[in-house]
Amino acid sequence: MRYEIGPIRPPNEAYSLLVRFTRNCPWNQCAFCRVYKGKKFEKRPVNKIKEDIDIIRGIRDDAVALSWKKGYAGSVNDDLIDLIFSTPSYNEFYKNVAMWLYFGGKNVFIQDANSLAMKPEDFIEALTYLKETFPSIDRVTSYARSRTIAKRLTVENLTCMRNAGLTRLHVGMETGSDFLLNYIKKGVTKQENILCGKKVKEAGIELSEYVVLGLGGKKWWEEHAAETADALNKINPDFIRFRTLKVLKDMPLYQKVESGDFVIQHEEEILIEENSSLKNSKE
Ligand code: SF4
Repeated sequence: MRYEIGPIRPPNEAYSLLVRFTRNCPWNQCAFCRVYKGKKFEKRPVNKIKEDIDIIRGIRDDAVALSWKKGYAGSVNDDLIDLIFSTPSYNEFYKNVAMWLYFGGKNVFIQDANSLAMKPEDFIEALTYLKETFPSIDRVTSYARSRTIAKRLTVENLTCMRNAGLTRLHVGMETGSDFLLNYIKKGVTKQENILCGKKVKEAGIELSEYVVLGLGGKKWWEEHAAETADALNKINPDFIRFRTLKVLKDMPLYQKVESGDFVIQHEEEILIEENSSLKNSKE
């Protein structure tokens, strides 16, 4: 029993069920990102997503039956998890679903980088099928690209998604600086980031904004801190997640580091930048 799982998820979705609606990233040009490089973006047909959901249901049914057989009354408890993880014939997909059930079977993360690039009606059909198949689900989250929301989706589209069960979006704003957004090839402006954030909140969907500390380097950290705080103040997201820049050789930004154009900050300088951003925040 196998179904598709994409390469990444947010850290706080470690015990969520991963369901892949799209493959890879439709933009794929950010200079600090290497996750989907060389991979083509694809929208998965709704019937294929439903087939995956059926497979996940089959695994759930099998795990529950195993629980009854072992005398655990249908519960996916510590003993059942120990049994599944110590038996080589249970593959990673089975183990993922078992862990999801162990943690309550409530949280789902929809992959990959921008599942809202799907047609809204297809996204809603797949999500509705997922929720009908697993009534225990009470939180559904996804990554989304801010330009897609700012340019292609209406508040009504987003509200329909929320009504279908979408509860939270993780958006990579990275920085509020237009100069830096252009420098790192994010393909979006500060105003589009703000518009995206306001639309998501108006639709009643929780918003988690991601910021990359160190993205301004030694040259532009003050603009990065000030403009990011300003954008976040205008959006007022539910969550702000700081991630620290790490430049690896297979990232396009590495070339700019090698040429001396981008100068990486020391850890203490990044803390000063973070402190500056926080001081400029309203709360
Ligand atoms: S939009 Fe996200 S996944 Fe796509 S290239 Fe940029 S950072 Fe990477």
